[in-house]
This record gives sequence, structure tokens and C-alpha cells, in this order.
Amino acid sequence: MSENKQNGIQEFEYKAEMKQLLNLIVHSLYTHPEIFLRELISNASDALSKVRFGQLTDNSAGEEGEELKITIALDEKERTVVIKDNGTGMSEEELIANLGTVAKSGTLGFLQTLKAEQGEKGGIDANLIGQFGVGFYSVFMVTDEVTVETKTDGAVGCRWKSGGEGSYTIEKTDREKRGTAISFTLKEEAKEFAEAYRVENIIRKYSNFVDFPIYLDNKKVNSVTALWQKSKSELSEEEVNEFYKFIAVDYQEPLDYLHLSLEGVVNFKALLFLPKEAPMDLLYQQGALENHGPQLYVRKVMIQHECKDLLPEYLRFVKGVVETEDLPLNVSREVVQNSPVMAKIRQILTTKIIAWFESLAAEQPEKFRRFYKAFGPVVKIGLNTDFTNREKLIELLRFVSTATEEEEYVTLKEYVGRMTEDQKEIYYLSGDSREQMLSNPNLEYFRKKGIEVLLLTDPVDVFVIPSINEYDKKPLKSVEKADIDFKAGEEQEKEALSEAMIGTVLRIFRETLGDRVEDVAESRRLVSSPVTLVSGKDSVDPQIEKMLRMMKQADAPGGKKVLEVNPSHAVIKNLAGLCMLDENNPLIRTTIHHLYEGALLLEGSLEGTAEYISRMNDIIEVATRQAKS
Ligand code: ADP
Repeated sequence: MSENKQNGIQEFEYKAEMKQLLNLIVHSLYTHPEIFLRELISNASDALSKVRFGQLTDNSAGEEGEELKITIALDEKERTVVIKDNGTGMSEEELIANLGTVAKSGTLGFLQTLKAEQGEKGGIDANLIGQFGVGFYSVFMVTDEVTVETKTDGAVGCRWKSGGEGSYTIEKTDREKRGTAISFTLKEEAKEFAEAYRVENIIRKYSNFVDFPIYLDNKKVNSVTALWQKSKSELSEEEVNEFYKFIAVDYQEPLDYLHLSLEGVVNFKALLFLPKEAPMDLLYQQGALENHGPQLYVRKVMIQHECKDLLPEYLRFVKGVVETEDLPLNVSREVVQNSPVMAKIRQILTTKIIAWFESLAAEQPEKFRRFYKAFGPVVKIGLNTDFTNREKLIELLRFVSTATEEEEYVTLKEYVGRMTEDQKEIYYLSGDSREQMLSNPNLEYFRKKGIEVLLLTDPVDVFVIPSINEYDKKPLKSVEKADIDFKAGEEQEKEALSEAMIGTVLRIFRETLGDRVEDVAESRRLVSSPVTLVSGKDSVDPQIEKMLRMMKQADAPGGKKVLEVNPSHAVIKNLAGLCMLDENNPLIRTTIHHLYEGALLLEGSLEGTAEYISRMNDIIEVATRQAKS
């Protein structure tokens, strides 16, 4: 950032990333420009929270006389807006750090998302701005220039000004009062935001539950109630939904909510929500839940905006507020983390939330399904991290299987309930999609026998499900593992090959494929396919392998498989015939390579199809030539 001193006014240049961001905000079409107001009010409210917190915890500060509040003044004729708060304010350094740079890690993600949205829909959902913590700049949707006058305790006042293009200026002022005033003139097309009734509606819509009074031209317009303090019967659905939208910054209503009021070893009240959909960052950012969590209040004062210690990571998508009397007000983050009270609250909350999921599953299956679709992949992680609740989490699991209809799910309990007496194990197969898995030759035997197989489609399944090991004393086993007991010899096809011929075919398969496979074996599981690939006894699940390869893990397991050959299949019988005539017929080797790569293709791990296709053409050429003669 360069500086340019002139009559006490310093000019600063924005960094490139920041310019890009501002440029997008200024020149893009937003679907809801009104949210600039929510963002500015939310910043003011944060600054006020810090003052209130300071007053309550720092004894020397004592009671301060002036009411903590936000005031908004509008002038319709001049199209001007002034938003004031008597919060912490900012020093010059803070102004530069907070309004001159984008330090947030989410910014790049934000830029990318904005660009994608704009390309796709021709407009941008301004809700995204709030999600990515670049709220202040949203004001440039409605104005060409913003002035921020601010003062913090113990520093001189400053005036910050920017046109949202390449630079901003800062000068010192003789402002005496602590706090911040943000003023600007609205662009012609945004003049509606100087109309009192319009602004009042926006405040009601987005900021009704802000913890401090908001005065619009001297009239108080928000309700300032701590909903979680009310008893269940006093809560109206509408009010609760509005509250959710406010704290979760969601335009949709919640999927469901839970109100808790606990007295006992610890005392706390909570109002918790399940969103209808997973937020985007949950999907594309690893560890996105690390810093999430409900808001923590202690004796009516907000202590933490996103308190991650309230819930285990696998539940941190739950939104809401938790308030307790049992923590001291002057809690630092470390104290919160290590406090036994906190541990107890967390333990109780976890139990209650899981019970909530259980009752949704039992009483409102549609809701549960929607919840599971959005957050199931996250909850499953709990199986490997929360051993206290593991059994309950296992009961919550839902699967598609070879026996479920589209959009229908089965629980492990149901699966076991419909196992036949002979079946001793629970079988699963993992893959990218139900359709792809249904065409997997490894299912043929199970199909024929009418044995249900769970189809794992969620990428986290392969890390979680095998770790269950057993359910109801029945081991869980991948159908791709080679050691499944197929009741040897059972139902051998009458026209199968002789032992000697099978031996020859297997030998030629082995010679041809060399170290591309771990081994070649006779199959008992195949019905209508000539060959299939199965994992060796000690190898990892093929899905895990695929993921490791995708993540370019250098030391990913070699991935060698056992190729099983179906001696009753016409192609294998023909091959045996060809071997008897002349083992060196090149068509034999071409066919073997082709069968092997076809199996790879089916399990989704054939890299590059050019060779496969060209070989296929060779084979078709032979086939058509023979048909002709
Ligand atoms: P976010 O609020 O997500 O941090 P913003 O771009 O909205 O991002 O604001 C950047 C920072 O500027 C805030 O984190 C805060 O430190 C500071 N700030 C903004 N508005 C005010 C205000 N009214 N009073 C004090 N500080 C403020």
C-alpha cells in the first residue's frame, strides 16, 4: 500500500486482490442489494458487544451511562444515510487493517464463487457476501463513496474515505466520542434505501434480533428479545423461524429446531436449529467445521459468536444459541475450552442433539431424510471420533442397497432383520453411484442368491463403514474381498470346463497379465460376466485406493487385484478352445488384456481409454471378418 501525504490526508492504495473484490461488488448485479444494511448493522452490533463485554468484565470500567445503541438517520431528499454506533470504534491502525485489506482466508473462495454465480445466473446472490465475511464492502452496491468517522478509547479520531475503486484516504479528526459513524449518499438507482418504511422493513427482516436497540430517525424498530429465554409454549413458529434466519444468515427457514432448558449439574438454555441445506463451505473446504459452533451467551452477554467448544466437530453444523449462568463473564477462550462446566454442557448437548435426530428419524422420516442427505456425511465422522455415542450414531446410518428402491433407505437393523438364516455376514460394495455399482459383476452371485448388499455411495463411507467391524455380531464385509466363502463347488455349471482346461486358461491369463494382477483365480461368484476384479485379502478398499490416487499420495498402495475368471462363460470357453488349438494365437492375449481392462473400466479405474478402444476395434474386426466368411 502506498501513502500519499497532503494536508494531513493520507492516501492508501488497495492491494490487487482487494481491488478485484471491490470491482466485483461495485459492478455486479446483485439480487438483494438491501443486505448492505444487515452487514453494517451487524458490524455495529459486534462493536457494541465488545463494549458491553468490556464493561461487565473489566471492573475498573464500571457502569457507563450512555445506552449502547445503533442509530440510523435518513434524508430522502438528499439520498443520504448515516449509521452510527457507540461501540468500540477503531484506531488508525485498525482502520487500515480492517477496512483496507482483505485478510480473511475465505476471500478467494468468495471471489471464485461470485464469478461462477455471475456466469451462471447473470446475477449474484448478495447473501454470499455475508457468508464470506466481506460485509462492509457491500455498501458499495448502493453508493459511490463512503465515509467512516470513528474513534476508539485512547486514540485520536479518524476519518476514512473511499470510492471503492483503487484507494482510500485517512485523516485525523477531533471527534471526542467513542464509536463509529458511517455515511454515504445513495446512487440514484438505490434511492429506496433512504425511505424510512423501506429501511424499517429491511431491519425487521434481517436485523430484528440484534442485541441492541436500533433507532431509525429516533424511533426504535427492532424487538431485542432473547427468544431462548422464553418457555417453549411462549415461542411462536414464525418468531423462531425469523430468529433462525437472523442468526444463521439463511434466507430459508430451518428444517427443525430444538428448545432446551436444563437445570441440574449445569444450567443452560438453548435454541438450536438444523438448516435445510449444508452451507457451501461445508462441501468444498476441508476442516470447514473447525471454527463453527452455536453462539455462547453468559448472563445475557454474548461471549463467542461461533463457539466451537459447545459441540463436537461432527455436530457443528447445528446453529443456534446456548446461554448459561454457570460460567464467569470474564471467560477467555482458553478458560472456555478447559472449563469442566463447558465439558458438561457439551456432553449434554451432544446427547440431546442425537436424541433429537433419533426422534426425527422415528417420527418425521421425511425431515430426517432431508437432514441426512445434507449432513449425514458429517455426522458419520462421529463414528470414528465419539466413542461414547458410537452405537447410537450407527443406528442413525442409512444406506441404499440392492434391495432398496430409488430414494429409499435401509438401516443396519432392517438389513439384519431381513437376512436369511444362512447369511452370516453383512455385505457392502462401494462406488461412485448406485447405477455404476449395480452393474458390478461382483454382485452377480449375491443377486442370484437374493442376498442384499449395501451400496456405499458417500465418499466418507469407506473410511467409516469398515470400522464398524460388526453389527449385531455380524461382521461387515466388502463383496470385493477375495476371501468370501462361496460354499465351494455349489451348483457348478454342467457345461463348465474340465479341471485341466481351467488350469491352462488360468496359466495363460497369468502369463499374459504378468504383474498387472496379484493373481488369476477361478471364480464362484460370477454368473453372467466372464471376469471380475476382487481385492486381495489384505488390500484396502478399492474406493479408498481411488481416493488416495486422486490425492496423489506417492505411497498409495500398489492396487494389485485378483482377477477372477468365470469358467462357465462362453468367452472363457471359447478362449479355452483357442488355447487347445494354438496357445500362441495372438487373439488370445488381445482378448485377455481386453477382459482385464474391461473389468477396470467397470470399477472406474481404467486410466485412458484410447488403447482400450483401439484393441476393441481389432477384436470387432476379427469378429466381423469371421461372420462374413
Ligand atoms: P467482518 O464483519 O466479517 O469481519 P467486515 O468487512 O464487515 O467483515 O468488517 C471488517 C472489520 O471492520 C470488522 O471485523 C471490524 O473489526 C471492523 N468494523 C467494521 N465496522 C465497524 C464498526 N461499526 N465499529 C467497529 N469496527 C468495525
